[in-house]
Amino acid sequence: MTILIVGGGWSGLAAAITCVQQGESVHLIESAKQLGGRARNVSWGARTIDNGQHLMIGAYDRMLAMMQSIGIDTAEVFDRQAMDLVIHDTQYPPLRLSSKSYLPWPLSLAWNLASSAGMSGLKRVSKLQSDIERVLSLEDITVSKWLLSSGQSQRLVRQLWEPLCLATLNTPIEEASAHLLAIVLRDSMGKGKSSADTLIPRQPLGDLFPKAAAKYIQEHGGKISLKTRVKALIVEDNKVKRLVTDDDSRLEGDTVIVATNVSQSHTLLSPHMNFHLPEEYPICTVYLQYAEDTRLNAPMLGMSGTTSQWIFDRSEQTPGLMAVVISAPGKHESMAKGELISLVCAEVHQLFPSMPEQAEQGLVIREKRATFACTVGIEKQRPEYKTDITGLWLAGDYVANNYPATLEGAIRNGENCAKQVVASLK
Ligand SMILES: Cc1cc2nc3c(=O)[nH]c(=O)nc-3n(C[C@H](O)[C@H](O)[C@H](O)COP(=O)(O)OP(=O)(O)OC[C@H]3O[C@@H](n4cnc5c(N)ncnc54)[C@H](O)[C@@H]3O)c2cc1C
Repeated sequence: MTILIVGGGWSGLAAAITCVQQGESVHLIESAKQLGGRARNVSWGARTIDNGQHLMIGAYDRMLAMMQSIGIDTAEVFDRQAMDLVIHDTQYPPLRLSSKSYLPWPLSLAWNLASSAGMSGLKRVSKLQSDIERVLSLEDITVSKWLLSSGQSQRLVRQLWEPLCLATLNTPIEEASAHLLAIVLRDSMGKGKSSADTLIPRQPLGDLFPKAAAKYIQEHGGKISLKTRVKALIVEDNKVKRLVTDDDSRLEGDTVIVATNVSQSHTLLSPHMNFHLPEEYPICTVYLQYAEDTRLNAPMLGMSGTTSQWIFDRSEQTPGLMAVVISAPGKHESMAKGELISLVCAEVHQLFPSMPEQAEQGLVIREKRATFACTVGIEKQRPEYKTDITGLWLAGDYVANNYPATLEGAIRNGENCAKQVVASLK
């Protein structure tokens, strides 16, 4: 019997690849006209850009392995650099979290941090780093409580921890889970230099993985239906029986992986089971097109004390194109597009005076449900792959794993879920 997979984001695609690699027949059903979900291509005039700027890191080992397993040359498609994050602030001098130095890791990191934040800054950061296992052994608390209890300075909170927490958990420090941040810090910085490498895609996201994944799935006998929305799951005697699509077609199947975003999963699943719906938080990307020869002095730079949080130089894809990221809820959500573009341009010019005062063109992309909110206790609320309904399985970034909503988490869950499904069929 064919395994039905609902949702063609990175998680559903990883599930489908894993199934066909294990000799199973799959049918992947996607409601949009393209694959990729929250990491997809968008057109802006003649440009192909991302629906939102993404950053991957060296610790994304399952994502890299999955790409390699379908023939993607990961050395080719990513600009992989040793971590070198410089965060510019409106009040303080730039702070540098970098492994670039002649010193071996982690001395290189310590050296660069001490040079930009002083010895007291280095001591405080080391204190938090050495507190990770302790915080993980206790009940979860907010990131801000953790930072306070470990004596982090106002400057470090504002210029380092808050930007890192927003970038990784998409949740403000006053609400964010200390456990999840601790795990992210442990896995990205505690496991050696290459885990902290930054990987910036050289291609638009849809070309990076979804296109190659679709080709691979189809070449291995899998079927993909686009523009097909599943509106209901039919369950009888606690066993999944079929899917019903928007045009009332029925897709018969006794093995279904639901790999949709969490709110869609809630809509499909809540008639049949208890399903906790976490809050979902937005990410806004402001694209700024400057003259073709405009460049930042680094592939990405942090910004603090401003509404803008990170700026990426996308010139490798489109000369003069910058992507500015604003994570989590905030005042910017209610600003008109033109007003937000003007504000972001002014902030970019303020922190990087060599950048022009104004961009030639701007575009605002607001992803309102970018990620589930990584609030205190979230780990306990994430469901497992296997449900209590026979034949019904869950994938997607929100399903239980140690990661916040990331491409690595999405791929891990797709792959792990598919492996369990295939094992259950045997
Ligand atoms: C702006 C932005 C920036 C981000 N930045 C980063 C980053 O820097 N690094 C990082 O690792 N992660 C980042 N993320 C998170 C990352 O993109 C997601 O975690 C990941 O894409 C989730 O993949 P998924 O397959 O689990 O879900 P989705 O991508 O949401 O895929 C679900 C799919 O199911 C389809 N679907 C939904 N309902 C139905 C239905 N009823 N029938 C059929 N199909 C349906 C949807 O159309 C979608 O294609 C970012 C996300 C956004 C939005």
